[in-house]
Amino acid sequence: MKIKAAVVREPGSPFVIEELELDDPRDNEILVRMAGCGLCSTDLTAQHGHLPVKFPGVFGHEGSGIVEKVGSMVSMVKPGDHVAMSYTSCGGCNSCTKGHPTHCDSFFPFNFLLGGRPDGSPTMHKGDETIYGGFFGQSSFATYALATERNIVKVPEDVPIEMLGPLGCALQTGAGGVFYSLEVKFGSSIAIFGGTGSVGISAIMAAAVSGATKIIVVSRNDEKMKRTEQFGATHFVNSGKCDPVEEIKKITGGVGVDYSMECTARPEILRQAVDCLAMGGKCGLVGAAPMGTEVSLDMQTLLDGRTVMGIVEGDAVSSILIPKLIELYKQGRMPFDKMIDYYSFEDINKAVEDMQAGKVIKAVLKF
Ligand SMILES: [Zn+2]
Ligand SMILES: [Zn+2]
Repeated sequence: MKIKAAVVREPGSPFVIEELELDDPRDNEILVRMAGCGLCSTDLTAQHGHLPVKFPGVFGHEGSGIVEKVGSMVSMVKPGDHVAMSYTSCGGCNSCTKGHPTHCDSFFPFNFLLGGRPDGSPTMHKGDETIYGGFFGQSSFATYALATERNIVKVPEDVPIEMLGPLGCALQTGAGGVFYSLEVKFGSSIAIFGGTGSVGISAIMAAAVSGATKIIVVSRNDEKMKRTEQFGATHFVNSGKCDPVEEIKKITGGVGVDYSMECTARPEILRQAVDCLAMGGKCGLVGAAPMGTEVSLDMQTLLDGRTVMGIVEGDAVSSILIPKLIELYKQGRMPFDKMIDYYSFEDINKAVEDMQAGKVIKAVLKF
């Protein structure tokens, strides 16, 4: 079928909306008519070729929409169902079998490298030319996308479908990181470094839901930090104006925080996120630094029972977490709609510009 998709012709090129042909869904595939798609920094990392992806390619991995057509083996959804999409995984490796598909052995090939289906076949063409897709098992910067039961989540129809895409990456990463990876407990303290973006704000909302009583945002921008108060942040540390480790110790009566989350992908900030922990504290690394980036830590700091863990997609099984996040949203306990600004699909490059300028927390394209 004919679709419109935002194609990146070569690394660093802008998004150009082109008419392409998308395959019919195979037996295990689901065709989704896109309603909305969030923009995530990983899309821009891919656009610039800093991820192992193929060009010309279609990115986009926070898609939500309505099922148009399903293959004969699909039983989880039917045409007309509202769905959100997330990362894909193989379903058969050790990690997938044990319920941790974010650690799937095939995470990189399936979500990035192959540029199409798990068997390597492409899903999109322009005449004779192959256009690479399969980004996070969806490539949803397009009017239609193919997904599978591995990365689709049926969502309720009484919430606006166009706003649900970010649940599949930003929300899942920040909230899953708090609920599943760090397991933030009632009465605890958490410091979120780079906590003013959509992942950080998702972590703030989840920490509030978990009952953390000190939710500390660390950033260099006072104005952006102030915006996080409405999501549940309780303390603000401007790391440009003070030593954030000292300041966090002060806020926590000298002992440090129980948990920290690093969302900036910078080694010197990861060091701070570890150094500000109380004994036995846990630091979750969410920021994705370029391959080969090293960090130095004081070994004595780790010896005191502190943990540093990497977090991908919040260690979440999307089909379990996303419906719970929607319940929290409906109860007013996870007001993620407040961080969204909408753009029409045609204005994708404007949305990228505004995102890079820090004018929006989460840009969502509407179709
Ligand atoms: Zn797997
Ligand atoms: Zn993402």
